[in-house]
Amino acid sequence: MLNIVMFGAPGSGKGTQSEVLIKTYGLFHISTGDVLRDHIKRGTDLGKTAKEYIDKGQLIPDELMVDILASVVDDNKEAAQNGVIFDGFPRTIPQAEALDAMLEKRGTKLNGVIGLDVPEDILIARLLNRGKETGRSDDNLETITSRLEVYNNQTSPLKEFYAKKGILHMIEGTGGPEAVFELVKKAIESM
Ligand code: AMP
Repeated sequence: MLNIVMFGAPGSGKGTQSEVLIKTYGLFHISTGDVLRDHIKRGTDLGKTAKEYIDKGQLIPDELMVDILASVVDDNKEAAQNGVIFDGFPRTIPQAEALDAMLEKRGTKLNGVIGLDVPEDILIARLLNRGKETGRSDDNLETITSRLEVYNNQTSPLKEFYAKKGILHMIEGTGGPEAVFELVKKAIESM
């Protein structure tokens, strides 16, 4: 079983790299952003709550997010038997602690964390471009600015959290998707 966290700022390429990884390694992909957007599309209560946070570029509260993640994992036990790529989770230290506890309870663990490093000006350009192409409602300059601030304040401390555990692999994420994937593959093979 191979459990991997794809870590990085919004626009760093977590989703793009995860898509290739699931095909290469037969892993199950959980993007918490996709899970929330699906709830919004279906108009569920959770979707209504999530939309308020997402449109402001803020994080969904930890307790709620941890419950959502656990239920996605438990609902997909069979698909996830080779392992899971966690994309966009954890985003806070309490979420990372909850993930460790959750995996331990299920008799498994995190094998590694792949961090994609991309300078802020490139992140902003990529997100604005994605906003134009996909119409994703939080890819506008105002929301992008708060998402990056939230990343710097609440999410980037996870780098130290995972570095201390010795499982962090930081990768230069500025190249094209194929070039970055070669680096991701090397990191995974070293796990
Ligand atoms: P993403 O698609 O990963 O960029 O996530 C889009 C938005 O969903 C984020 O800006 C947050 O508002 C929310 N979100 C996704 N994952 C999480 C998480 N692990 N914790 C809290 N909020 C999240």
